[in-house]
Amino acid sequence: MIYSVIVDLSAGEVDRIFDYKGEGYEVGTRVLVNFANRETEGYIVEKKETTDYDESKLKQIIRPLENFAAISPEMLELGRFMRQEYHLRWADVLRLFIPAQMRGNRVKSLTKQQVCLATQDSLDVILNSLKPNATMQRDLVTFLYLNGATLSETLNAEFGNAALRALKQKGLVQTQEIVVRRTPYKNIRTGKFQKHELLAEQQNAVDTVLSDRQGRFLLYGVTGSGKTEVYLTVIEKLVAEGKGCIMLVPEISLTPNMLRQLRERFGDTVALLHSGLSSGERYDEWLRLKEGEAQIAVGARSAVFAPIKNLGAIIIDEEHDGSYISDFNPRYNTSEVADFRARQNNALLLMGSATPSLGSFYAAKQGKLKLIEMPERINKQPLPHVEIADMRLETRRGNKGIFSEVLKQRLSETLAAGNQAMLFLNRRGYSSFLMCTKCGYVAKCDDCDVTLTVHREDNRLKCHYCGKSYYMLDKCPNCKASSFRQGKIGTQQVVELLNKMFPDVKVLRMDADTTQTKESHGRILEQFRQGEAQILVGTQMIAKGHDFPKVTLVGILDGDQSLHHEDYLATERTFQLVTQVAGRSGRDKDVGTVVLQTYTPEHYCLRFAAKQDYVGFYNWEINLRKAASFPPFSEIVRILFTGEKEKPCIDQLTEQYAELCNLKSKYPSDFYYLDKMRCPLKRAENKYRFQILIKISKNSVQQLLPQIYAVCDGKKRSGVQISVERNPQNLA
Ligand code: ADP
Ligand code: ZN
Repeated sequence: MIYSVIVDLSAGEVDRIFDYKGEGYEVGTRVLVNFANRETEGYIVEKKETTDYDESKLKQIIRPLENFAAISPEMLELGRFMRQEYHLRWADVLRLFIPAQMRGNRVKSLTKQQVCLATQDSLDVILNSLKPNATMQRDLVTFLYLNGATLSETLNAEFGNAALRALKQKGLVQTQEIVVRRTPYKNIRTGKFQKHELLAEQQNAVDTVLSDRQGRFLLYGVTGSGKTEVYLTVIEKLVAEGKGCIMLVPEISLTPNMLRQLRERFGDTVALLHSGLSSGERYDEWLRLKEGEAQIAVGARSAVFAPIKNLGAIIIDEEHDGSYISDFNPRYNTSEVADFRARQNNALLLMGSATPSLGSFYAAKQGKLKLIEMPERINKQPLPHVEIADMRLETRRGNKGIFSEVLKQRLSETLAAGNQAMLFLNRRGYSSFLMCTKCGYVAKCDDCDVTLTVHREDNRLKCHYCGKSYYMLDKCPNCKASSFRQGKIGTQQVVELLNKMFPDVKVLRMDADTTQTKESHGRILEQFRQGEAQILVGTQMIAKGHDFPKVTLVGILDGDQSLHHEDYLATERTFQLVTQVAGRSGRDKDVGTVVLQTYTPEHYCLRFAAKQDYVGFYNWEINLRKAASFPPFSEIVRILFTGEKEKPCIDQLTEQYAELCNLKSKYPSDFYYLDKMRCPLKRAENKYRFQILIKISKNSVQQLLPQIYAVCDGKKRSGVQISVERNPQNLA
């Protein structure tokens, strides 16, 4: 037999299929092959009778790496699709489908000794064969008789090693090796599951979804409308029919909460997949799905590749979230991948959000997604009241602080009433930059075109882009003066200010700095939920999903921070952010309040956000997009050129640009835009960055995209990396 193998090379541009000889392998099996005189791992992607090469020269596959096919035929199809759609290398795509540490054989199943009775005799007979004073042995066999096979470590702990050894010698018990699965987040206990009686709107949503098992749905439900219950009920129904489901949440920080709810309801049939797990846990959870021991996968975007059999549904919560679009290699769009997988499996796709992405809402209006609406909160509470604090007025009144008068007052009221508050600020660290007051020097990262952030906890300057950390400056490296001004305030400083304002109040902080360990997200949120602190200060991490009944005040300290980017997605993102943050307030009995601080209160985005008027915002924004032919009315392609030296990048850029100009002249009406430039982030991680931006008409994508990709595949200079992104979320 001839097998086509993708060789799993770690770097480089090689994306070719090589033929090998072998016998008895299943397609999708990972194998060891000889490639360029080295033993290399690879994936069998095809089995065939003949080869285009000289068969006598083909090498033999050395051996399989696992005794099962790691990649199913379905996933291979998905791989083919992703490769074409996103211009990816085979090896990079296939790696997404397996736990990382399977490669290089860095993880194995965990085995343990299990003990069971070696005789069919009744308990009386067994006990009669033991001395009356051999208490431990008698207890042990009784235990085994009643409970069946048990791990020997459990028995040793309970009855002592001696008893077990003696019974083994007598031949009364026997041991065997069994595989045990490592379980992540064991401490998230399965509490009691209380089924809610579904409200009419929820029931309607569930019925609509289940009425079309191959449907595509957009569940547009305001924050607190009970979308999760809809997802869970749909899963329950499908699992009862023997189907598997994938439940995606936008961030790792949201997985513990969803995992808890799923485990409460579905117990061990739930598997968690995300990069924060230990390699053993990840491998075991993946295997449980693969072997059909678990039917429900939950996780962030990569869980869309869960090896689930008989897939019935993929559910994407907070579908608008930018994290569903991978912005580093391999780049892909989760909802497109989900759509493809659902199609192959005749499964349904359910996407939910309180602020659907413009693209999805537009697709719903076009009838490509079925729109389901849940416009009311479960508790019939009105959406929180939003007060806009005009920070320009505050400044004019002489308030130079970060808190407006109204926010200070609401904070005092909230704390006095025994409620909790969340303060939101999109900047971690102490303050955003350090500037010399004399010469205007601003501290920047050596490797990135990014200003450094002051961190008080270890008195250092840090680059939030690459993570590099620097000594704090005492003198300006430029003019030697030692007077610095610190720029905008960060989360850490907000906490410090709050501690001064309310000395008796406990404040928690949640941002990338306080959540570096594996389970710290969960811990901070749990502390806050338990009421151990009254105020939670955080970055966008606290914006979404979380449900804290005692929170009645949300403060958005920098409402317009993300508004003033040239990026066409900036307003949409700001709207989503403000609405999501506001949605954290008043989810229980007390009506919530939101204070939105801004320097541009007249901006349409903030006006709609303050009223939580999604449809109003949608109508306004979609018209702008249409007028400027931005997505969803066009497709944006960005070709990114990076390299340590500037010159080869520029040469490469110029060359590819010329070719694209040729292409454009053939399809003048389909190219809305084509230009080359430096990236807004000029340098990052010690590499220069240039880009070509392309905007093409929606209906020319099928025709033009392969040709654009072909241009990217042309001759390359060494030292230049080229990558392509479709509709990137981030144009930095
Ligand atoms: P969303 O995801 O739409 O923001 P959630 O699913 O978090 O909303 O639901 C909000 C709250 O309402 C949760 O505390 C949830 O337990 C509760 N809830 C959901 N459905 C019901 C119901 N049918 N009856 C009572 N409470 C419900
Ligand atoms: Zn840096």
